[in-house]
Amino acid sequence: MAHRIVILGAGTGGTLTANRLRRAFSEGDAEITVVDQDNRHVYQPGLLFVPFGLTRPEDIVRPRERQLHKGIEYRQVGIERVEIASNEVHLQDGAVLPYDVLVVATGVRLLPGETEGLAGTGWMEKVFTFYSLEGAAALGGRLARFDGGRLVVNVVDMPIKCPVAPLEFCFLADWYFRERGIRDRVEITYATPLDGAFTKPVASAALADLLDEKGVHLVTEFNTGEVDGEEGRLVGYDGREIPFDLAVVIPLHGGAEYVGRSPGLGDELDFVPADRHTLQSDAAPNVFVIGDASNLPASKAGSVTHFEGEVMVENIRRFLSGESLDASYDGHANCFIETGHHKALLIDFNYETEPLPGRFPTAVGLPLLEESRLNHLGKLVFQFFYWHSLLPGRDIPGINSDMPLSGKSRPAHSVR
Ligand SMILES: Cc1cc2nc3c(=O)[nH]c(=O)nc-3n(C[C@H](O)[C@H](O)[C@H](O)COP(=O)(O)OP(=O)(O)OC[C@H]3O[C@@H](n4cnc5c(N)ncnc54)[C@H](O)[C@@H]3O)c2cc1C
Repeated sequence: MAHRIVILGAGTGGTLTANRLRRAFSEGDAEITVVDQDNRHVYQPGLLFVPFGLTRPEDIVRPRERQLHKGIEYRQVGIERVEIASNEVHLQDGAVLPYDVLVVATGVRLLPGETEGLAGTGWMEKVFTFYSLEGAAALGGRLARFDGGRLVVNVVDMPIKCPVAPLEFCFLADWYFRERGIRDRVEITYATPLDGAFTKPVASAALADLLDEKGVHLVTEFNTGEVDGEEGRLVGYDGREIPFDLAVVIPLHGGAEYVGRSPGLGDELDFVPADRHTLQSDAAPNVFVIGDASNLPASKAGSVTHFEGEVMVENIRRFLSGESLDASYDGHANCFIETGHHKALLIDFNYETEPLPGRFPTAVGLPLLEESRLNHLGKLVFQFFYWHSLLPGRDIPGINSDMPLSGKSRPAHSVR
């Protein structure tokens, strides 16, 4: 009898997993079903460019179903809950999907309602997010009419998807207002709950220098308690206030709502605990997790999802044939950081090694932690690779799930 594999979510992780599995198993060996609530696959790195008029919303959206290989069943319906004890997924149309292996790939949910005032007065007028397609498009309209004042970019809490995206937004805002000839009339502030510009010391110092160079004011350890859209101020739990004319806020993130309705599956934020090297969930041996939906200490990024996919698909194959799992996922993450003026930085790191300077993937590759036009081109070209290599489940030559060390160097003054 064919194995029944059910994949929840048809975003980055669900799509690449389904396509890789379809290649690994014949149709007679495995039935693959993918469930998602809508049919709109957004290339999320493109959301950064929408507010600045560098990409149109329609250029970063494709039908989910069309990204799936032949022989994969697609169900467009919300998920009600998972019953781990009976190996069943209950869908919102009342259907029940029994499974032998379940893959959770339902990403994160934005929770603006969890911060006082954020979704209240001024939301989508004076207070925006670019983390959704609607938000990014609405912010584009507002930025085009903004002719001076205080812009604050704020991360409410970690973890967030693509932790460098808010920094990229600051760099692009600096570039955008310069292009419009009004940079001297705009004050840009970046308010973060972290104790620096980024999480790891070497990259944090490099990114703080870049913010400084571009005249972006950095406010650290700012824990947003309230967003007052009427008065135009962020209020921190420690009483500090940051006034604004326009706020770009990254709301609190949580896992999908159905996770909370599924006994034993998730944690208090509805993320799914899993083994950080095999991607097998703590909930049951036949449940695997990929991408933003997990509680792993890896970045919530498409690159991470891609690297996890290679190991996880191999582990599903091993699980179904009774072999021991491959514990080789090392937390590898790789991100281009757009810095404006047609330049970008590149960072590459894993659970153990922080982002370091040097070259990627070898000593003659792209510059790491250094602005270059080549990295900017890499960021632009990546959209093509996303639709044509990453989602179809093809390997990208020279880029593997194991983080390469050759080409990297540790600055003499760095602390680890
Ligand atoms: C502004 C921005 C910029 C980014 N830039 C980069 C970048 O430069 N590089 C990078 O590597 N990453 C970047 N990312 C992050 C990257 O897009 C995500 O990490 C990646 O898409 C995660 O894939 P995923 O499969 O876990 O989740 P997703 O791709 O978000 O897919 C989750 C899917 O689950 C579905 N779903 C959820 N709940 C339910 C339900 N109850 N019923 C049915 N379906 C459900 C959703 O509809 C969705 O399709 C960026 C993200 C943002 C927001």
